[in-house]
Amino acid sequence: MSNQSNGSNVALITGANKGIGLEIARQLGRQGVTVLIGARDEGRGREAAGGLRSPGIDAYHVSLDVTDVATIAPLPALIERQFGRLDILVNNAGVASGWDLPTSATPLAMVREVFETNFFGVIAVTQALLPLLRKSPAGRVVNVSSGMGSLTGMSDPGYEFYGLNPLGYNASKTALNAFTVALANELKGTRIKVNSADPGWVRTDMGGANASHSVEEGADTPVWLATLPEDGPTGGFFNSRQRMSW
Ligand code: NAP
Repeated sequence: MSNQSNGSNVALITGANKGIGLEIARQLGRQGVTVLIGARDEGRGREAAGGLRSPGIDAYHVSLDVTDVATIAPLPALIERQFGRLDILVNNAGVASGWDLPTSATPLAMVREVFETNFFGVIAVTQALLPLLRKSPAGRVVNVSSGMGSLTGMSDPGYEFYGLNPLGYNASKTALNAFTVALANELKGTRIKVNSADPGWVRTDMGGANASHSVEEGADTPVWLATLPEDGPTGGFFNSRQRMSW
């Protein structure tokens, strides 16, 4: 693994070995950002980083299972030692289950399992890396949420996913949005911005082949939030670069 980032910004993207996360890494890399591909599987992470390096992106794999404190704890020291800085954290790793189960009969264990990744994992990774982000001249935290976590959407019969209620998934994204607001409020007055992104319905393993958006389209808003200028927003929820309802 190479040392330091030669002064360029450094971004860690969690769950970046495939899907939207990999595309976020590609788009940030094309802008000259050094991208750290967070992946829980060593082989998949290395392959993804290697695939980005061949067209000239400065990409590296870092081992990270967001539910495993043993992989989170060493990260800050590793990143500081090998790359010198961290400017952008994209909390993208996510899981979904129980799509067809009614809310009243969704096993609690299933809900807890989804929360471990989509909510508790984000908190653990962000808390660990915040000291490094505070040293950045323009720290950015992007939480990849979902329109399905919008209470406004869930309550609106006109919303495209109205009635689709995988309990753990939707509730974990609502909770993630609460984390975005709370952390952004705490960090007001610092150089760090914290926002939630809804990528839309995207053709990935999670979104399926019939989804309306390409990965390129899905990654656009998270990348925009990851590279916001100093006068950009914080504490918001965005889809297609537009503010959306919580
Ligand atoms: P995906 O193709 O299933 O990719 C999910 C990624 O997260 C994979 O790299 C996966 O790694 C990783 N991951 C899962 N659990 C992890 C853990 N404990 N630690 C580290 N990495 C973990 O899904 P996607 O569609 O790209 O979704 C990315 C994000 O967008 C998710 O947060 C999702 O909720 C959100 N989102 C997606 C859509 C959509 O339509 N696709 C819509 C709204 C929001 P492995 O390969 O090892 O499993």
